[in-house]
Amino acid sequence: MDHRLSPELEELRRTVEEFAHDVVAPKIGDFYERHEFPYEIVREMGRMGLFGLPFPEEYGGMGGDYLALAIALEELARVDSSVAITLEAGVSLGAMPIHLFGTEEQKREWLPRLCAGEILGAFGLTEPDGGSDAGATRTTARLDPDTDEWVINGSKCFITNSGTDITGLVTVTAVTGRKPDGRPEISAIIVPSGTPGFTVAAPYSKVGWNASDTRELSFQDVRVPAGNLLGEQGRGYAQFLRILDEGRIAIAALATGLAQGCVDESVKYAKERHAFGRPIGTNQAIQFKIADMEMKAYTARLAWRDAASRLVAGEPFKKEAALAKLYSSTVAVDNAREATQIHGGYGFMNEYPVARMWRDSKILEIGEGTSEVQRMLIARELGLVG
Ligand SMILES: Cc1cc2nc3c(=O)[nH]c(=O)nc-3n(C[C@H](O)[C@H](O)[C@H](O)COP(=O)(O)OP(=O)(O)OC[C@H]3O[C@@H](n4cnc5c(N)ncnc54)[C@H](O)[C@@H]3O)c2cc1C
Repeated sequence: MDHRLSPELEELRRTVEEFAHDVVAPKIGDFYERHEFPYEIVREMGRMGLFGLPFPEEYGGMGGDYLALAIALEELARVDSSVAITLEAGVSLGAMPIHLFGTEEQKREWLPRLCAGEILGAFGLTEPDGGSDAGATRTTARLDPDTDEWVINGSKCFITNSGTDITGLVTVTAVTGRKPDGRPEISAIIVPSGTPGFTVAAPYSKVGWNASDTRELSFQDVRVPAGNLLGEQGRGYAQFLRILDEGRIAIAALATGLAQGCVDESVKYAKERHAFGRPIGTNQAIQFKIADMEMKAYTARLAWRDAASRLVAGEPFKKEAALAKLYSSTVAVDNAREATQIHGGYGFMNEYPVARMWRDSKILEIGEGTSEVQRMLIARELGLVG
């Protein structure tokens, strides 16, 4: 399989690379320090069409595919992960479920503004009592036959993009009944921001991704029309498994970007910083560290591009997506640790991008399926059950 980019995708990669360097890099450190959501940068990303990359033009999208999205994510994360995760969650978790499972009416209502970045969508799956075991959802939704409305009760935690000034909707998973075998029937329901009874808590104080928005949500007798059901009733679990399979490729691209950003910063610093009368980069110990970091970023890129190519070709990609996510997040953490080491004391100072990368790397082994969950998926794909 040839994983080199077509001229169109290479052009997209260059455009996003330039944007990341010229617009994101000079400003994002201040937003990060203030734990502030970078509205002006996100607006600009919307104007560039990044939120519409994998969606059809008839809904306001750019007519591209998942490969295009992942390329943009890698380039953004080379410079900063907060803006990259805002795009990833907005597209892959916010808009994609509506594109894949929505009715024509739902697509027309939501996709044009989501594609333009005028509003952000969020996906509420994780609950305070469980994330990995997503089938253990406790949030409930009952259909009120008198008003033809879903009545939702429960809570969600760690939800990205859920409480910004431009958040338009959160798709939540909820138990809507019992299956014949007694297991919970889970469905997905669109809850527009501002619906009475839907409360968004203050942003979490996080270790990293500090210029992105993550909140706890609570639902107390929240009423939305029956027509806000996304996809078929009882298919919510299967739907979000599909969304998470794809999302793993996006997170793998983002992690690769962070791993590559660590190489970029380390090469620069190793040439500038002098110790014992010469640049530290003349020491083989430093050169070997950076060579290993480059090897890991390169291999991670091949892994996510392979998974994305399979997805775009309509081939099975579950195992490859899990492999790419597991590998790229592991090497992102490795590279962030080594880049910080190469920067010495300055690597511990927040004004240096590698300090931000170090803080942003750990979540990649946790979000959208922990490394343990990826191993479980890979083992299952290999026919190991237990
Ligand atoms: C910044 C941030 C943003 C997020 N954004 C979103 C979002 O937008 N939407 C959303 O729905 N969620 C979101 N999440 C939640 C995230 O996906 C979960 O935190 C993650 O899936 C892990 O779930 P958990 O935190 O409940 O950990 P748990 O499931 O409680 O796991 C705890 C530990 O036990 C391990 N473990 C669990 N079961 C097993 C097993 N069977 N075998 C071996 N090990 C196991 C896990 O790997 C982990 O190490 C976000 C989280 C963060 C921190």
